[in-house]
Amino acid sequence: MQWKGVIERYRSYLPISSETPIVTLNEGNTPLLFAEGLSEKIGLKVYLKYEGTNPTGSFKDRGMTLAVSKAIEDGAKIIMCASTGNTAASAAAFAARSRRLKCVVIIPDGYIALGKLAQAMAHGAQVIAIKGNFDDALRIVKEITDNYSVALVNSLNPYRIEGQKSAAFEICDVLLNAPEFHAIPVGNAGNITAYWKGYQEYKRLGKVRTKPKMLGFQAAGSAPIVQGQIIKKPETIATAIRIGNPASWKQAKEARDESGGLIDAVTDDEIIQAYKLLAAETGIFVEPASAASVAGILKLHGRGYFDQGHGDKIVCTLTGHGLKDPDTAIKNIQQPVVLNPDIKEILKEIGL
Ligand SMILES: *Cc1c(COP(=O)(O)O)cnc(C)c1O
Repeated sequence: MQWKGVIERYRSYLPISSETPIVTLNEGNTPLLFAEGLSEKIGLKVYLKYEGTNPTGSFKDRGMTLAVSKAIEDGAKIIMCASTGNTAASAAAFAARSRRLKCVVIIPDGYIALGKLAQAMAHGAQVIAIKGNFDDALRIVKEITDNYSVALVNSLNPYRIEGQKSAAFEICDVLLNAPEFHAIPVGNAGNITAYWKGYQEYKRLGKVRTKPKMLGFQAAGSAPIVQGQIIKKPETIATAIRIGNPASWKQAKEARDESGGLIDAVTDDEIIQAYKLLAAETGIFVEPASAASVAGILKLHGRGYFDQGHGDKIVCTLTGHGLKDPDTAIKNIQQPVVLNPDIKEILKEIGL
């Protein structure tokens, strides 16, 4: 039977009624891939939840299907978000899919990966770039959506979290239990909040026997939760997590503490190393922010964090597709050689 998206699949776990008009791009049902090399390296069974195969190329679609469906049910005509790119791409696509919503997105000028901007524009969103960062954009969007009849579709919108928890359900449905650890990049902290909610609900309902330790990773130049203070000028190559004042800060700390996990920082160098390793050794091309989860577990392994856990399972969320950010790829990967259309020259280059 055809997969019909996360609302159809997990309807009984979601705040959906028979009246809700479902807007879906058949998001979800993403691959959970066993990573042999990483497993050997770390000494645990490492699985990669590859969210880049969602329709707009990131996990944001899981929450957007719900946020947009509920916005229409509640009579909205306009949706709005602040975005480092992927929320904008997803909101724009679902608004187009609905054929009735106008979508307005506010982005930090110059800090949004090319693919994401192309998506938002292609889907017909009104894109406004501000001379400020994501945190400035979110403040403005909150004020507008508080005072005008415009629906906010950032992860402050509880329906976003509800939809995104479906990724934890999918993992449990495949592994037939929760993993021992779950590693995830942390930006605005909605996703770590959503996964923890999903794991807790499955446990409460008896669908799984255990819950994972949640391991969140921020970029070192944008690590407010790790440092315990707002970062006024967050910096990182991983633009999707370039956030200095996460909206779900409190919930992320709860996920960390209730699960017995941690939230740590990884440097841009560590992120790029993991990004290259994923592409070269697992066949999965992600955007830089996504590699923070793998960079994080490599760092923890380096300091012996997993030494007790042989045989345990760890799932890393890979949040978005590598094609989102072609500039980073081209800057960090070897350029092709240019030769004449001459078979001898080419054979020599190949070494045949
Ligand atoms: C949105 C996003 C994140 C951060 O998720 P939060 O819910 O904001 O913590 C990480 N990676 C990618 C690719 C994203 O699009």
